Amino acid sequence: MKKLVIAIDGPAGAGKSSVAKVLAKRLSYTYLDTGAMYRAITYEALRRGVSDEAAVTAMAETLTMDIFPKTDTMHVTVDGEDITDKLRGTDVSQHVSKIASMAGVRAVMVKLQREKALKGGIVLDGRDIGTVVLPQADVKIFLTASVKNRALRRFHEMKDNSESISLEDIEKNIQERDWQDSHRSVSPLKQAKDAILIDNSDMTLEGTADAIIEICKLTCDESN
Ligand code: C5P
Repeated sequence: MKKLVIAIDGPAGAGKSSVAKVLAKRLSYTYLDTGAMYRAITYEALRRGVSDEAAVTAMAETLTMDIFPKTDTMHVTVDGEDITDKLRGTDVSQHVSKIASMAGVRAVMVKLQREKALKGGIVLDGRDIGTVVLPQADVKIFLTASVKNRALRRFHEMKDNSESISLEDIEKNIQERDWQDSHRSVSPLKQAKDAILIDNSDMTLEGTADAIIEICKLTCDESN
């Protein structure tokens, strides 16, 4: 099968990263978690105490970020330091949408993401992959699920990581991020016109991956 570029966009907690990981494994592709990149910038901005757009953009332009898979987890290093286990905490989750709405920060991240996708054979998940980063992607999926389902998934994920936060608070954070991500002026979260919508509220992870692999096969057949 041709080495495709697969873009998966959608709101928080829709299962994008879980399904992208399964797809990457089954297709022997690279996986790029673009949300982790925005989370890494947010963590660094909080740690360094920078918050205005010019300062955060200057920081993003000068730091060296690397993102790579290691034993089933996406690892992120900034200037050589592995900050992976700092990226899913409440503080980062509460501030990330604001940082991700900064045009200068997005320009730096988009450049890195395009470079990673150059060779194909990659699954990227995010909010603007099919609309802005790679509008020419071979397969574009808009993955969503009900807010209740999405909050419940995050709740179980965080419980597994021994983080204590109520289901109510997670639901609130998801709704706030949905609103901010889809109402920002730069690269808002929206379904690309040519993206295929999958609501996986009642689907399993494997079932969602199967559906996307079928779409990949059809795309390859059409291009032959
Ligand atoms: O995917 P995840 O929930 O980890 O993303 C964290 C945040 O990063 C999102 O809420 C969004 O604000 C931002 N993001 C973005 N564009 C992307 C990926 C993530 O704005 N491509």
